[in-house]
Amino acid sequence: AARDEAASRSNPVRLADGSDITLWANVASRAEAEAADRANAAGIGLLRTEFLFLDRVLPPSEDEQCAMLRAIMAPMRGRPIVLRTLDAGADKPMPFLPLAPEQNPALGVRGLRALLDNDAIFETQLRAMLRAGVDHDARIMLPMVTNPSEVTAARAILNHAHEALAGAKTDHAWPVRLGIMIEVPAAALVIADFADIIDFVSIGTNDLTQYTLAADRNVPALAGLGGTAHPSVLALCRKVAAEARVPVSVCGEAAGDPEIAPLLASCGIRNLSTAPRSFAAIRKIFD
Ligand code: PEP
Ligand code: MG
Repeated sequence: AARDEAASRSNPVRLADGSDITLWANVASRAEAEAADRANAAGIGLLRTEFLFLDRVLPPSEDEQCAMLRAIMAPMRGRPIVLRTLDAGADKPMPFLPLAPEQNPALGVRGLRALLDNDAIFETQLRAMLRAGVDHDARIMLPMVTNPSEVTAARAILNHAHEALAGAKTDHAWPVRLGIMIEVPAAALVIADFADIIDFVSIGTNDLTQYTLAADRNVPALAGLGGTAHPSVLALCRKVAAEARVPVSVCGEAAGDPEIAPLLASCGIRNLSTAPRSFAAIRKIFD
């Protein structure tokens, strides 16, 4: 029984070929962060911050965002926590963000594009993240990146947030690691061009699959096209793992799918971030 107990919490898990897969948690609430702790997650690989904003007509204040983030981060006690900036638009409309109506919102102003168009909201969130990161290993991740120039623009706003907090003598985490999600095939294909301006990468296979196969992620009838197991999606994952020159993880649903996770591992992925409830199934296949 003691051995079963140890196996049920092992992290990393050892593959048959001797390599190690580290399990990270995707969370969006305090309860999920506590589940991540119980499941012995290496850290939070994706904290989706959309929950802070859902149904809000006005975005929450910097203080409120900071308090909400700290409540979720507390159970991690020193383990790394990847805070993703607001991923609005497409399947996640936000009432307070004035995004123009579009015919193809999945191909429109969403994710980082929407943040760069609304830089006051973006900078407020970055300030809240830097303040919440005090006494934590907090990292910041940008969603829906297409080009290096977008990252450079985001980095300038992050630097500005830091300088303003420092000027006001407000306690905050600095320096902080900045990473990107790889969800757009164009970014995956030129991954090496990002190496000098980012600290880590997480592949969002939900959107990367949608955009690679031109198949809406919310249309189940299109599942037959192959999903994340499609060789084209796996080829992009393999390329990113081989050429990123920074730590790489996968944080889409596929990371918690016992059928697909081994394929990701064979592409060179060594970090999987998924819902804590999927850990048991993943540990079982890799054991
Ligand atoms: C993804 O696209 O794989 C991802 C993790 O982000 P989200 O599901 O929040 O779009
Ligand atoms: Mg996504």
